[in-house]
Amino acid sequence: MTSRFSFGFVLIYSLATAQAPAKPADSGGTTVSTRARAIHDSAIVVDTHADTPQRFLDEGFDIGSTDAKDIGHMSLDKARRGNLGAEFFSIWVEPVTNQSHYARHTFDLIDSVYEQAARHPDRMMMAFSVADIERAHREHKFAALMGIEGGHSIENDIRLLRDYYRLGVRYMTLSWSNTNEFADSSGDIDDPKVQHHNGLTDLGKQVVLEMNRLGMMVDISHVADKTFWDVIAMTKAPVIASHSSARALVDAPRNMTDDMLRAVAKNGGVVQVNFFNGFDDADFHKAMEAQAKDKAAAVEKYVEQLKVEGKSVSYVDEDRIEREWMAKIPRPPLKSLIDHIDHIARVAGIDHVGLGSDFDGVSGATPQGIDSAADLPKITQALLDRGYSANDIHKILGGNLLRVFAKVEGVSREMRAPTAPSK
Ligand SMILES: [Zn+2]
Repeated sequence: MTSRFSFGFVLIYSLATAQAPAKPADSGGTTVSTRARAIHDSAIVVDTHADTPQRFLDEGFDIGSTDAKDIGHMSLDKARRGNLGAEFFSIWVEPVTNQSHYARHTFDLIDSVYEQAARHPDRMMMAFSVADIERAHREHKFAALMGIEGGHSIENDIRLLRDYYRLGVRYMTLSWSNTNEFADSSGDIDDPKVQHHNGLTDLGKQVVLEMNRLGMMVDISHVADKTFWDVIAMTKAPVIASHSSARALVDAPRNMTDDMLRAVAKNGGVVQVNFFNGFDDADFHKAMEAQAKDKAAAVEKYVEQLKVEGKSVSYVDEDRIEREWMAKIPRPPLKSLIDHIDHIARVAGIDHVGLGSDFDGVSGATPQGIDSAADLPKITQALLDRGYSANDIHKILGGNLLRVFAKVEGVSREMRAPTAPSK
């Protein structure tokens, strides 16, 4: 999940007035060559961030939908066309509207993923390990995994963290855009009204170590820079950034500096590039800043109007408004996204970059040509065009994430092993 106006980073954007220059018209449909298609189809493609569970729960969306008019990024059909083998579905609990029942909403979202898998046992399965992802691949099934987006879901209770692991959650983003009681977030780090901790608290450190022990990947997307460095200093397993891009290309606090990219490489982890235009394209980012004030005013007016009518803002409403504002800004070319993959591959190394689309969480603001999971082969084509080898492309498409996941499982086994009795 990238931006929700109720608690989105848009509210803390500086109110720059620069206008984005016009982009050339959408060339969109990159043709995928036979060679690119063959490379793409021989990979286990893993994406680490899709917000589709909001749709399962709030819209009653069925992942088996073949509705040609559906503007969502994800369905079994779209996944199959894009040879997407495994998806980490985001369990994201909006922190303002769900106050006092974070865990309850977390469980509801987890349930929504299981229910989809139960409806489509012939084409989809729940997966909890590298071995499960490989088995799903062999059986030509779509592997559904889960990652919690935002540490507030554990309600400061390490036992809830363990319960989520037992239910199959395999990564947790330590914070979303909101600083919680154990980790500072990049989303509100400049807000003086928010109480910060200078990174991770003692509980936060305990959470990281317990995640290492359980075999739950530690996700540093969204966290404040200091939180990132605290995690790197103490984690015993490689980390992931489930959906993060490069700050050297687009100066957004959600993006990672080159020093952070190098630190993830040293840690053995992986940075999964976010497809959101606001993080990947400098012009789009500027245009968002420019519209932030008008957008906030329009949103406020809408929320007030609903209040008068005794209603609250639903996820569907939020998404509709967010889409209207995003659609005012020209979509950048696919090149903007590929530039981030390229940059991270050069700075961190080819073994430390992958795909973290943020599908269904960016209100339609993906680059030209990327309208759903069905378009993933275009990324392979673009990488091939830049001279990446088939082997390198396979690493980016999922190999790196599977290596990190396997290492996290290994560290967990070591940490859980009974220690020899002392003499
Ligand atoms: Zn997010």
